[in-house]
Amino acid sequence: MNFAIIGAGLAGLELARRLSASHSVTVFEKARGPGGRMSTRRATPYAFDHGAQYFTAETEAFKAFLKPFVTAGSVAGWPDTIQLEGDAKVSDKARFAAAPGMNSICKSLASGLDVRAGCKIDAMERSQEGWRLQEASGDIHGPFDWVISTAPAPQTEILFPKSFSGMESLSQVEMLGCFALMLGFDAALDLPWSALKSGVPPVGWMAINSAKPGREDAFSLLVQSNNTWAEQHLEDDPEAVKSALLLTASDFAGIDLSIATHQVLHRWRYAATATPVGEPYLIDRDLQIAACGDWCLGSKVEAAFLSANALANAL
Ligand SMILES: Cc1cc2nc3c(=O)[nH]c(=O)nc-3n(C[C@H](O)[C@H](O)[C@H](O)COP(=O)(O)OP(=O)(O)OC[C@H]3O[C@@H](n4cnc5c(N)ncnc54)[C@H](O)[C@@H]3O)c2cc1C
Repeated sequence: MNFAIIGAGLAGLELARRLSASHSVTVFEKARGPGGRMSTRRATPYAFDHGAQYFTAETEAFKAFLKPFVTAGSVAGWPDTIQLEGDAKVSDKARFAAAPGMNSICKSLASGLDVRAGCKIDAMERSQEGWRLQEASGDIHGPFDWVISTAPAPQTEILFPKSFSGMESLSQVEMLGCFALMLGFDAALDLPWSALKSGVPPVGWMAINSAKPGREDAFSLLVQSNNTWAEQHLEDDPEAVKSALLLTASDFAGIDLSIATHQVLHRWRYAATATPVGEPYLIDRDLQIAACGDWCLGSKVEAAFLSANALANAL
């Protein structure tokens, strides 16, 4: 069989890795490299994990998947402690981060796979030979026997034909945005925490990115917004969003963070899942299309892995 997978985040790459053992697989990714919401953005001398911060591992399947990365030192415990502000709470589950960047796991999975980066799929069409995918540039790929989308549910919904049997489930998924403010400094700041969770909007999370395991970059801070606040301010002027985040973050740090020499704001349109599908994947065996990703089961890295794994088993 010949599979096209849309998206080179953890779900797409894990699925590709599993399927490529016995099938031909091509992965299409609109960004410049693999990682999706587990990306790392480099801005020398700084680097920022501007998406997922850490992950937990509750299932035996995900723990087994992580084991070789832990052995190789590319996954390590982080953060040990989290400072809490307002009514923020954290669980006592073990937390992990990838090293030297959050994208390390996806980069490793992608090696040896046929991943076409910088390739945004805009449309799909079926003929007698199979599915053909059309890129934003107009280039056509295929035919493929199967198409699987791991793009966030609202983006999969736009792409898939209306006759897809999972369309109703797709349209019920609710996803929330998030702003990530990347701050780089000329000199290290003296902060009493390595990570901070906030219940005081607009800030939801802060971390010393350069203090995560295996980092050798210059001192950097990552400030993320609360998801509910982001939803209400998605279309605001980015300068206003940046100022609001800087104000509260500076208050938490006890230092005026606007002294940062590098200040870049990123908007994640679909960061977290408020309402998941509640099933591990969606599949239409007649049309030979399927979808998986964190939004099937929840909002986390482990959910993305479990969703892809379940679909790989089903296929
Ligand atoms: C700001 C933020 C903070 C987070 N914090 C945490 C955390 O602390 N802990 C945790 O466990 N999880 C966290 N998450 C969630 C975690 O990152 C996700 O659950 C996980 O990375 C999802 O993986 P995925 O493969 O399902 O989807 P994604 O990683 O979103 O992969 C989908 C891929 O599809 C690509 N794509 C979309 N449309 C197209 C198209 N038309 N053509 C080609 N490619 C396309 C996208 O570019 C993307 O690379 C966070 C996410 C964000 C954004």
